[in-house]
Amino acid sequence: MQNIMDYSKVDLENYFLSINEKKFKAQQVFEWLYQKKEYDVDNWSNIKKELRNKILNDFAFDFIKIVKKEEDNLTKKYLFELQDKEYVEAVLMMHDYGLSVCVSSQVGCNMGCSFCESGRLKKLRNLKTYEMVEQILLIEKDIQKRISSVVVMGIGEPFDNYENVIKFVTIINDAKGLAIGSRHITISTCGIVPKIYEFMNLPLQVNLAISLHASNNELRSKLMSVNKVYDLNQILAAIKAYIAQTNRRVTIEYVMLNLVNDNESNALELAKLLKGLNVYVNLIPYNETDNIGYQKSSKNRIMRFYDVLKKNKINVTIRKEFGSNISAACGQLRSKEVK
Ligand code: SAH
Repeated sequence: MQNIMDYSKVDLENYFLSINEKKFKAQQVFEWLYQKKEYDVDNWSNIKKELRNKILNDFAFDFIKIVKKEEDNLTKKYLFELQDKEYVEAVLMMHDYGLSVCVSSQVGCNMGCSFCESGRLKKLRNLKTYEMVEQILLIEKDIQKRISSVVVMGIGEPFDNYENVIKFVTIINDAKGLAIGSRHITISTCGIVPKIYEFMNLPLQVNLAISLHASNNELRSKLMSVNKVYDLNQILAAIKAYIAQTNRRVTIEYVMLNLVNDNESNALELAKLLKGLNVYVNLIPYNETDNIGYQKSSKNRIMRFYDVLKKNKINVTIRKEFGSNISAACGQLRSKEVK
């Protein structure tokens, strides 16, 4: 039986139509689930008893569980246990402009980036839509506050679980769902090129971030094996098409690995690649983990890299570091649990 939170509003409308009910029932169900947060169907007072019983019969209402929390003053990291006893994690970050959550999209990851903890443990399965929606619902319940933005940057490659991730986005974005504005939702991909083209044609105004992390193909293939399938040229062509189609700015993520990809020559090369494109570069201080040998770049090297990009008229920011005192590197909490 499928969990009710696997259903987008359109899916629910189709369900109600298929059982000869009015499609606006879908709206009412969304209000109960996502606005009133009433999960006991017997309390859905604007739906008659007979239909409530039918709904109870046709859908599952299970929740994933929070099994561990780690926190410092600006960050809270959650480990969730799924119904099949697998684990994923999400991170809450308290910015001055609001609360944002980084959600996982898969159990493990197959992309095999050499610096990433999530990929050390291979992908076991995709997350269902409800397992992503509930990461947010459970965090909101835990802190008794509303989440204002969501990034799909936790464990997993969202474009390797495309359909469920897009469904998740439509639910959290829906005015009767969690009503998180599309400009406040970002999907981050390592560069699954065909999905970038699919994504640009969706009627969603969601932000796109691309994990580039290197300024040339040789280096990128060493760091990210996905580059052997979709290389920099293909990714840049997709980014250009995306910008032309959507008129939206693309975020370029660049993780700063000491003496690996953080030389001035890399910055110059990157500036050349991105020249004239409507992008901004987000330099990410690397989160070191025990199991992988890379070190984070020094503040000096990061500043130097930043300056070179600036001088070459590339928009650039340095990502604020969150949670380096807790297991903040993507996948660290899970890998401790699985070990
Ligand atoms: N698979 C997607 C989304 C998940 S990873 C992607 O590749 O974009 C989110 C971002 O964190 C990616 O840019 C990833 O390369 C980066 N990342 C992974 N491990 C990291 C670490 N230890 N420190 C800093 N960033 C890391």
